[in-house]
Amino acid sequence: MATQDKHGIFESLGLGPSLEGASVGDEWFASSKDFIEVKSPTTGEVLAKVEQASEADYEQVAAQASRAFETWRAVPTPKRGEVVRLLGAALREKKEPLGRLVSLEMGKILTEGLGEVQEMIDICDYAVGLSRTLSGPTLQSERPKHRMMEQWHPLGPVGVITAFNFPVAVWAWNSALAFVCGDPVIWKPSSKTPLCAIACQNIARDVLRAAGVPVGVSNVIIGRGSGVGESILADPRLGLISATGSTRVGKHIGQVVGARLGRTILELGGNNALIISDKADLTGALASAFFGAVGTAGQRCTSTRRLIIHERVYDAFLDKLVTNYQKVNIGDPLDPKTLMGPLIDEGAVGDFEKAVAAARQQGGEILYGGKVLEPPFGRRTFVQPTVVAIDNGAPIVQTETFAPILYVMKYSSLEQAIALQNGVPQGLSSAIFTDSLSEAERFLSYVGSDCGIANVNVGTSGAEIGGAFGGEKETGGGRESGSDSWKQYMRRQTNTVNWGGEIHLAQGVDFHS
Ligand code: NAD
Repeated sequence: MATQDKHGIFESLGLGPSLEGASVGDEWFASSKDFIEVKSPTTGEVLAKVEQASEADYEQVAAQASRAFETWRAVPTPKRGEVVRLLGAALREKKEPLGRLVSLEMGKILTEGLGEVQEMIDICDYAVGLSRTLSGPTLQSERPKHRMMEQWHPLGPVGVITAFNFPVAVWAWNSALAFVCGDPVIWKPSSKTPLCAIACQNIARDVLRAAGVPVGVSNVIIGRGSGVGESILADPRLGLISATGSTRVGKHIGQVVGARLGRTILELGGNNALIISDKADLTGALASAFFGAVGTAGQRCTSTRRLIIHERVYDAFLDKLVTNYQKVNIGDPLDPKTLMGPLIDEGAVGDFEKAVAAARQQGGEILYGGKVLEPPFGRRTFVQPTVVAIDNGAPIVQTETFAPILYVMKYSSLEQAIALQNGVPQGLSSAIFTDSLSEAERFLSYVGSDCGIANVNVGTSGAEIGGAFGGEKETGGGRESGSDSWKQYMRRQTNTVNWGGEIHLAQGVDFHS
């Protein structure tokens, strides 16, 4: 079986059977005596044991990051960009084993594991460019012989908390930007995917050391959310917490960090819909709906969870979709023939079963799937991709279930379709398939989609690094990756300089003794 190449993957990424959860200097360290058994989602084989970090271990890591900041912020930004360029080069070299590790530990199929590493490389390239272009405007002063301008300064160490489903890319989205902005990163990955984090830190550590800059620019702390997670949230040394995860956890993070007036970037749950118009190219719509709903076994924040289909094409479209579902090859994610791997663990399978039962009870009709599969490799983590016809208002449709369940519904007018699309608490990704210009423009207008991402003839799932990524409403409002997301990792300073000698007060205020 393809998962057997664990040995080679481990060797090339500096992993072993027994690991520790805090990066301190060049070493790994932990003192909690609290161990995670990292199991393959595919077979249940124990891949490694990781001793989690304690709150005391966190303190060492945070102190190291604060010290590194003193040095790192003084390095000229293009030179910091050069270090990120070297990180991108190291990731290119390690793309194959790291992509395989993502598949092994998280369960996404290999092409998606490799794609995730490519995304890391892409954001490094992007950040290298940024390191020459980060800039603020010069502004017009109302006072004679004065100049106003904005400067952007490094912010300080940044806390990055990530979800299991993108175990390497989200770290890179944050770190590549934070590093060029002059900020060290303290990364708390999901305890479901600690090996990916250790592998990334090993790569970053070697790059930093070779570049002669403090290794404490990049830090990892693996531990419980209720332990080191809370330490990160409460730490006033961390001016920004960038958190990716469920809306439930994100609400807590927003409150705790908000209480100390820290900044957050919140990247939370989605409930993404694809509208399929009767004026659409149905072949493209089919391919996009299929990848969006079945890809990554429905475990992407941007996975297509709802299809809103025009009544004229509803039956024909669903016939074709279900035919595609029947052909999905489910199995070992490292086997190139596999299209859908396992869910992350038995808990996720439990959520799948509960959602299918709730959908039935709430009037849904299962058009395909709905069952947990006989475990092909011993672990009960494989499910059927599932299609359910149901009303948008059903409570289960209003919640994000992190599994390959697709809810389908009919519409007759575009206004109705947009109302259905927007009629959920989340607001991450959305799309319409149509060849009508006015339908497309309406969907993108202020009366259209209320999501952070709105696409035309492109599905909901997956995004390029060049755009700002994130969503509205219960998705948290954060934006990461491209466009001007870098600004959140820096502190803005407005400067007014008087080069004329005479003192002028703003707004013409006259104040003499
Ligand atoms: P999760 O909410 O269970 O965990 C996310 C992270 O929060 C983990 O690292 C976890 O350890 C940490 N955490 C938990 N409690 C904490 C606490 N008290 N203090 C600090 N940290 C704490 O999410 P998950 O199951 O790993 O991932 C799936 C979820 O993530 C889905 O809802 C998905 O939509 C969302 N997600 C969103 C995006 C996005 O960009 N919007 C991207 C990927 C995943």
